[in-house]
Amino acid sequence: MHTVFASACRYTQGHGATASLASEMRFLGLEGSVAILSGPTVRGLLSECWEQVLGEADIGHFLVPFNGECSRAAIAAAKETIREQGASVVLGAGGGKVLDTARAAAASLQLPFICCPTVASTDSPCSALSVIYSEDGVYEDFDSFGRNPDLVLVDTEVIVGGPVRYFIAGMGDALSTVFEARACIKSGHSNLRGGLATIAASEIGEACYRTIMGCGREALADMRRQQATPAFERVVEANTLLSGIGFESGGLAAAHGLHNAMTAAEGTHPFLHGEKVAFGVMVHLAIEKQPVELVEQAMGFCRDVGLPVTLESIGLSSDDTATLRTISELAVQPGGLIHNEPFDVSAEAVFQAMLEADRRGRGM
Ligand SMILES: [Zn+2]
Repeated sequence: MHTVFASACRYTQGHGATASLASEMRFLGLEGSVAILSGPTVRGLLSECWEQVLGEADIGHFLVPFNGECSRAAIAAAKETIREQGASVVLGAGGGKVLDTARAAAASLQLPFICCPTVASTDSPCSALSVIYSEDGVYEDFDSFGRNPDLVLVDTEVIVGGPVRYFIAGMGDALSTVFEARACIKSGHSNLRGGLATIAASEIGEACYRTIMGCGREALADMRRQQATPAFERVVEANTLLSGIGFESGGLAAAHGLHNAMTAAEGTHPFLHGEKVAFGVMVHLAIEKQPVELVEQAMGFCRDVGLPVTLESIGLSSDDTATLRTISELAVQPGGLIHNEPFDVSAEAVFQAMLEADRRGRGM
């Protein structure tokens, strides 16, 4: 197998970065009308800025509504609107699901894609993947496209004013990157782009962990004061760029495999991707029988920033063994990410690891 590394063509992050949309497009040679997919909150926040910036540069644009779920139906509807109105570029602005819907629509129309995350809540913006959910929010599959985004434009002025919970969830997602990449590198399993991890991807995963552990607590305190400090900027980069490249070109394993299986349990639905992944990391470390110092370091961080470390804190219960058994069975289905671990993982091992992680989380 070859080594493969993928990334967005260009990543621009900073305070007020939305104002540089037109110049960034010009720099990349992106021309013509822009279809902007976003939900109502982000539209309210940024539509005036888009109008001004794109208007001054004489770039046409139109808004495409988003209904809240990245489902096959939502992607088809967005694609239809974009095709009907005619666009040369697709831009998605918002959280993971709106970005994934816009990405899928752009890919199927073979149009360039600009990704504008307004929360630093997941590892998805820089990737070439869209996670597909059913209309009811149950994980179905992910689609992998040939191209990563042409541009990822991260406006930290918007992110610092957004919901703190999403930023915390992004750290939970980013916490998993290094452990999953290490598992794939050890097992020799492919990353998400069909190759082995490069040195670059491996080092990006390590840098992601160092940044989260080193700056995460400070960045969270800064965000609570709505201050986009250097620590905050670094963690936004870790959540968005490092975690994104790290998972896609490093690989995924138990933590995300468990996340995917957990989405089938209704109790977990109110929880964000990164929150479920954070508990997935605790289970991941238990499955791998990692040293207690490492487990305590990761768990201590989660506790400090308010990420879930118990079953109860992600809507599950150690008493509900039927649901935990179902999740364990789903996690080890053929083709599941958990099989990227460097050893065989059984449903029983997942079940026991979930209980062990929960016991540790409860301090027992
Ligand atoms: Zn993730």
